[in-house]
Order: sequence, then C-alpha cells, then structure tokens
Amino acid sequence: MRALVWFRHDLRVDDNPALFHACEAAGDSADGGVVAVFTICPRQWRDEHDWSDIKVWFLLENLRVLKERLGTLNIPLKIVTVDDFSGVPGALAKLVEETGCGRVYVNREYAWNEARRDEAVEREMGKIGREVRGFDGTVLLRPGSIRTKGEGTFYTVYSPFKRACWAKHEDGEWPEVLGTPGKQPEIGVEGDEVPGSVDGFDAEPSGRELWSAGEKSAKLRLASFIRHRVEGYKDGRNFPADDATSVLSPALHLGMMSPGQCVAAALEANGGKIKSGGAGPVHWMSEVLWREFYRHVMVGFPRVCMGRAFKREFERVPWRDDAEGLAAWQEGRTGYPLVDAAMRCLVATGWMHNRLRMVTAMFLTKHLLIDWREGERFFMRHLVDGDLASNNGGWQWSASTGTDAQPWFRIFNPITQSERFDPEGAFIREWVPELDALDAKVIHEPSRSGLAMANVEYPSPIVDVKAGRERALRAFEGVKKG
Ligand code: FAD
Repeated sequence: MRALVWFRHDLRVDDNPALFHACEAAGDSADGGVVAVFTICPRQWRDEHDWSDIKVWFLLENLRVLKERLGTLNIPLKIVTVDDFSGVPGALAKLVEETGCGRVYVNREYAWNEARRDEAVEREMGKIGREVRGFDGTVLLRPGSIRTKGEGTFYTVYSPFKRACWAKHEDGEWPEVLGTPGKQPEIGVEGDEVPGSVDGFDAEPSGRELWSAGEKSAKLRLASFIRHRVEGYKDGRNFPADDATSVLSPALHLGMMSPGQCVAAALEANGGKIKSGGAGPVHWMSEVLWREFYRHVMVGFPRVCMGRAFKREFERVPWRDDAEGLAAWQEGRTGYPLVDAAMRCLVATGWMHNRLRMVTAMFLTKHLLIDWREGERFFMRHLVDGDLASNNGGWQWSASTGTDAQPWFRIFNPITQSERFDPEGAFIREWVPELDALDAKVIHEPSRSGLAMANVEYPSPIVDVKAGRERALRAFEGVKKG
C-alpha cells in the first residue's frame, strides 16, 4: 500500500523511523511506494511560533538537500503551503487522495500545538479511511516512557531522569540506529520545487554563510567532534572562545541528525559505556539527555508550552516594564562586555554558546528583572536552533521558574563569569571590537578603567550588578513570603 511520509523536524533519510517503516511496508507494487511531503505554515511560524529568518532559511536549504537525497531513492517530495496548522488536515487529505496513499507515516511531535494539529490530521484521515502511524524519531525515548519509580509521574529533576535513561540503556531498551531505506521503483508522482523563500521571512538572513545544510554535513560535524573534541568536552565546554562543543543543535532541532546517531557515535568512542569511561563522551551524552529531559517535561507539563511558569508561585514575580533595558540587552549595549558580545553574536550568526545563553538569560531576568518570556521570544526570533522545549527549559532554568531550575538566590555575576570563562577576553574582542585595545585585566569591566576607556566608545553599565542582584532577591523573596 502506498504511504505518505510527512516530514517535520526529521529532515533526514538515515535513522528516520517514519521513513524506514513506510518504505518497508509500502512494497514496490504498482500502487505501492512512498511519497514524501513537507508542510510550510508561514503565518503560524511567524506569528505564533516566533521562528527566526535564519531558521526558516536553513530549513529551506535542508529541504533542498533532502529532496535531492529522496530523489536518489525515487521518493518524490511534495511541498504543501497553508497559512497555519488549521489548514493542514484538509491539505494532507487532498494529497493522499491525489497520490493514492493509503497511510500516513510521521515521527511524532510533542509540543502542544503540534500534537493538536496531528490529532486533527488523524481525525481527517479517519474520515477518508486512512490510518496515521506515529514513531519516535526526534527523541531517544518516548516522552512518558521514563517515569518516577514510586508514583509513576514525570520527572521534574534532571539527575534522576538521566539515571532512569541510563537504566533503560543498561536494560537494552534503547532505540537502534536505523539504516537507509532501499531505492524504490519509479512511482510516477512528480515532486515539487522547494521555494526560495517563505512569506514574511528574510530569504538572505545574516549569518547564513556559517550553516551548511544536509545530513551529510551534520554527520561530518559529528565525526569531527567525536574524533577531535569529545575527549576534552567536559573541561572545554564552558569557554565560548574555544571550539569545544559540537554545534549540532541546529541539526538536532531540524532533524538532519537524530539524538540516537549522536549517542551511538559517543558510545562507540567510549567502549559502549554510557555512564562510565571517558569523562568527555559521558558528559556529552548527558547533555544530549538535557534535550530529552525538556521534551519529556513539555509533554508532562504542557503549561510550559503556553508561556506559563512551571513553578506556579513565580507567576507572581513583579517583572519590570523596562523597554530601554530590554532594547539595550537585545542590541548588545548593556555595558557588560560578555553579555554584549553574546547578544551581538546571536543576532549576527543565529547561534549562541550555552554558557552565554545562561549568562545573558540571567542578566535579563535577574539583573534587569525583565520577564523571561521577553528573552525566550527574542531568542526564538534569532536562533537557528530555536527549539520550544530546550529554549523554554533554558529560560525557565535561568529565571528560576522552571522544573530543575537554578535556585533564585544563585545569580551569575556577568563580570566574574567573564573573567572565568573568557579570561583573555578573546570572545569579547571578536564581538565587541571597540574593546580590543583593552588588556585582559580590564576588558571584563571597562567602566572601572577610566584611563583605558579614554578613547573607547562603549556604554556605561545600564544597571549596577550589586543593586540589580539585590532587587531581584527582594522580588523573589517577596513571592516566597507570599
Ligand atoms: P553540545 O554541548 O555539543 O551538546 C550536544 C547537544 O545536546 C546540543 O546540540 C543540544 O541538542 C543538547 N544540549 C546541550 N545542552 C543542552 C541544554 N542545556 N538543554 C537542552 N539541550 C542541550 N538548545 C537548543 O537546541 N535550542 C534552543 O532554542 C535553546 N535555547 C536555550 C536557551 C537558554 C536560555 C539556555 C540556557 C539554553 C538553551 N539551549 C537551547 C540549550 C543549549 O544552550 C544548546 O543546546 C547548546 O548551546 C547547543 O550547542 P552545541 O550543539 O554545541 O551543544
């Protein structure tokens, strides 16, 4: 029976359970074979989900590579454009009828809107006698399959969640990495052109030269990381000027790479061990599990998809309405060099190092006491890897409103973070070049070096860190006291 594979955040051919099983089941009779489809939803992406120009650009680039790769298997890629999710069920029902598909295969999506969209598609398919088959191709372990021992509830703390994942690995309940489906005979269905742009998104965003599309490119990146950098990852991962992390987050987000492929490569480098052996690979695999954790949290506690604080009491934090402070943070002119360097890097490249995501998020939510939702939205509008679960998880962690969050009284100081993690100021010099002439002792806090600053145009700090910290402590203490 012919099958329709609906691609979403799984833009790869290898280790793609929906595609793999569709190809296996579809057979190669005249009415068999597989048709692929991708749905573009410009209004939904722009107005509801705050997708960035660079993410949409990268998605289109990857669709082009995917189309080519599917073409080598004789699988045509159709492109359906509907303004928002509400148009998807009808458009897909029409497509299955036109192409003679009897079933639809998908890798499940877990965010609230996506899950509701998929339920609507399933109902619509039911009406015309088509079945939808779902797989878990964007996670290692299906959300809901990892639960606390006693009560069987979703984990809200990462470490026991990680240990439960490790136990699954030890028990052999771990997904296998699937291979490439075989080539099918021609089925006489024409694929569509991938559009050059999507309405409402810049087709030539800044930073695009940095991102190379396709699963082959992601595999090369993974292989190079495992060969050269994973060993030093545990120590190196906190230093933004060093090329010490994998930078695979865009590939994991759009699905050119699966988490299973990542962990399999690290396991191979670590003699098959997931929790012992080399500190580098073990730590890296545990970071991949953070991604997993936030997906499980999103399913267990859907309020986090709806702009709500996980910890309900922190809905009462008296966030400040400070348009000027917010703009200074967004534009990288807070007067704190590491924060400014990080924000300028984000806007120019679509990516930011994890340490800096934490530093900038904490600066916004604590020192400026601005609502984490402002930062979450700004990140989504600029990140090439902008991912609802991980971005929300990271923001709520930093704002202390989340599941396994940083305690509200532990606030990163942007100057000491800078001294510790960018000791020579190498990252600052790259993104705040006006400070390049300053030596490493003063570059972290140029406002204190009046002389050195004589010829440099750089803003004074927009907030005093000590005063900002105390204001945040008072605000959170006030909530705690009720
Ligand atoms: P590596 O260090 O090489 O780690 C490998 C992979 O593990 C990453 O690609 C990522 O998929 C996953 N991972 C690592 N750390 C985390 C983490 N803390 N949380 C979740 N997954 C993790 N990650 C996103 O993919 N998209 C986002 O929109 C996003 N927003 C964030 C916002 C904030 C405020 C914070 C603090 C973190 C955010 N993260 C996000 C998590 C993390 O910063 C990035 O995944 C990481 O920096 C990507 O770099 P890398 O690929 O080199 O990671």
